[in-house]
Order: sequence, then C-alpha cells, then structure tokens
Amino acid sequence: LVPRLQPFTSTIFAEMTALAVSTGAVNLGQGFPDTDGPAAMLDAAKDALFGGANQYPPGPGRPELRRAISAHRARYGLEYDPDGEILVTAGATEAIAASLLALTEPGDEVIVIEPYYDSYAASVALAGATRRVVSLVERDGRFALDTDAVRAAITPKTRAILVNSPHNPTGTVFTRAELTALAGLCVEHDLLVITDEVYEHLVFDDAEHLPLATFPGMRERTVGISSAGKTFNCTGWKIGWVCSTPELVAAVKAAKQFMTFVSGGPLQPAVAYALEHELDWVERLRTSLSGKRDRLAAGLAEAGFAVRPSAGTYFICADVRPLGFTDAAELAWQLPERVGVAAVPVKVFTDHPDEWQHVLRFAFCKRDEVLDEAIQRLHKLS
Ligand code: PMP
Ligand code: GLN
Repeated sequence: LVPRLQPFTSTIFAEMTALAVSTGAVNLGQGFPDTDGPAAMLDAAKDALFGGANQYPPGPGRPELRRAISAHRARYGLEYDPDGEILVTAGATEAIAASLLALTEPGDEVIVIEPYYDSYAASVALAGATRRVVSLVERDGRFALDTDAVRAAITPKTRAILVNSPHNPTGTVFTRAELTALAGLCVEHDLLVITDEVYEHLVFDDAEHLPLATFPGMRERTVGISSAGKTFNCTGWKIGWVCSTPELVAAVKAAKQFMTFVSGGPLQPAVAYALEHELDWVERLRTSLSGKRDRLAAGLAEAGFAVRPSAGTYFICADVRPLGFTDAAELAWQLPERVGVAAVPVKVFTDHPDEWQHVLRFAFCKRDEVLDEAIQRLHKLS
C-alpha cells in the first residue's frame, strides 16, 4: 500500500459493526436505519429490475433521475439543467472522491472541518492534496463554525473547502450567519466549495438546511453533493449526485467515469420516483427521527452522559467524563463487551484527538424498542 493511504486501511464503522455483531451488542455505532424506505419506492425498484433496466445506464445517470434531482434542487431556488449540470454517482462517497480527484492537484490544500466524515481525509489523500483542518468550537451550547479559524487556515495554496451540514458526527446545522460568513470567505479567496448535504432533509426543531450554493457568488464555485441513502432509508443503494456548473460537472465526470463509469441501474428510476412522490414520507421520517433524538438524548442523560444538542442528522454526541471516563475511544472499544452497546469515538474523525477524546457518537436512526434496549443497557455503566 502506498504511504499516503497507509492511515486508511480500515474504517471505524466496519470495525465497530463487526464488534457489535460478534458481541451481540445493540449497534448505535454505524449510522444506518433499521427500517425500510417507502414501499412504493421499493416497488419501483422491483418494476425496474423486472422491466429490463439491467444494463448500463447513461454515463451522467438516467434522464428521469437527473430531472427529478433538478426539480428537488429547485425547491431551494437553485436551477440546474438536468443535461450537463447534474451527475449521478455511486453514493455521495464517490461524488466526494471524484470531485477531489478532478479538482485538486498534489500540493493543493483542502480545508476540512473537524470532526470530519472519515472519507474526507482518505479522499484528499487519494488526490494527493493536503488537508488543512479547522475545528468546530463549543459555543452557546452547540458545536459552531469558527469562521475566523477558517480565514486563518486559508493560504495561497488553498484550492477548496469541504463543508458538511447537517454535520456528521455532531448534529450541528450551520446557521445562516455562519454560512454567510463562510460564503464571504470563499468568494473573497476564490475557493472551490464541495458541499456534502446528505442529511439535507434530516433537520429538527427550527433548524433549516440552507445550501451554500444559494448564497451570493456561490453557485458558480460550489459542487453540491447529496444522496438518497439518508433521505429514503436506503443507505445500501449508493445512489448519489452532484449539482454544479457544466464545467465543474464535466470535470467530476471525467474522474468518476474511470472509477465506476455508472452504477445502480435499476435503483435510479426508483430514486427518481421517490424524489418526485415521497417527500411526504420523508417529512414523517424527519418527525420520527426528531422524536428518536429526544428519546436517546433523555436516555443518555439518565445514564449519566453529558449530552450535546443535535439539530440534525442521525447522530448525537455525548461527553463521557461525568461517568468517570476520560477516553471515549477506550470506552467505545469496551462498551460492546461490557454493557452490550456499540458507539463511535469522535476523536477518530479528527487531527486533534486530545481535544475530542471525551466525546462519543451515538446513532438514533433505530426503532424505539432498540433505542430503549440500548438505554437500559447503558444504565449499567453508572
Ligand atoms: N457524507 C456523510 C456526512 C455521511 O454521513 C455519509 C454516510 N452516511 C456519506 C457522506 C456517504 O454517503 P453515501 O452512502 O451516499 O455514499
Ligand atoms: N455514514 C455512516 C456513519 O457515519 C457510515 C457509512 C459507512 O459505514 N461508511 O455512521
């Protein structure tokens, strides 16, 4: 294995899920739902499978899916031409990797906000670029974006910034003020922006998802990425997409076409169907997930954790120090054996493990009885 990939030989999700399976633990580590998406979407996939949609779809994705993505993006007031400004990918993961491979060179710097989704560091490394990490800061009771720190991280070599909101693992949803300041910096320094919006529908209370591309001067510099997995409970389908300018989409496609060319042929019409007809289902999912967040937050607090607020995603973070632990990673490795629950230590998503070593991430995208069982087991910790 080449040196630049040596830090990335396994993922925390694969490791924790394997440990959860081998110990019979309730898996609140890897974020995936334990119920299916809308029945009509599954039927549409079945119809496509038996209706002959089993050969290569077109390189940019099936036209009906690109049209549905365009209509979905237009809900934010963003217009993208299905022919040339939209590319279907093998999940958001491929979209992120292909964007970095297509748009950065060895020596370029990419700003990444930590804690960061694990594929970001690996994909920056794949591209041979250098990551410059900016930490979220605890401010007013939430993990907030420190735009002064972003400004300080910009150098003449900075090519792009990768922005994830709603944010995995903290559940932070960036505010209009944070995004306005960030957009101002990107325009001022002429940066490319890669936005990971896979949790765009999963926002709670009064939080609102605002795509960075909607801010002044941003559409032409933003590669907007999302995927169906989190919106329609189909994380295994790996249908993602990119919305951007014709030039940027063509660049991403140049890299993508030699990784997978295309994928998920019969799933693409089903996702098109869901984007067009199942947003009411997604609204119910959102309401249900906000209840699950409250349920797990209350349970974790009762079990002795100091729970941080989560305004979106599948995830909630908790400080393990009130229970007498200092290292959440050490605890995470013991937890499945000791009480029968799996969670993920946040420090593995950072370049500053000391600052994040007390934080554990729990996924709440599970049936209520599963969450209740996990909570009951976690009470054994105190
Ligand atoms: N970005 C974030 C922030 C994620 O949490 C995930 C995984 N769930 C992905 C990207 C990957 O999305 P996909 O499964 O569509 O590749
Ligand atoms: N996105 C999921 C999470 O954060 C995991 C995806 C994966 O296993 N690669 O838990």
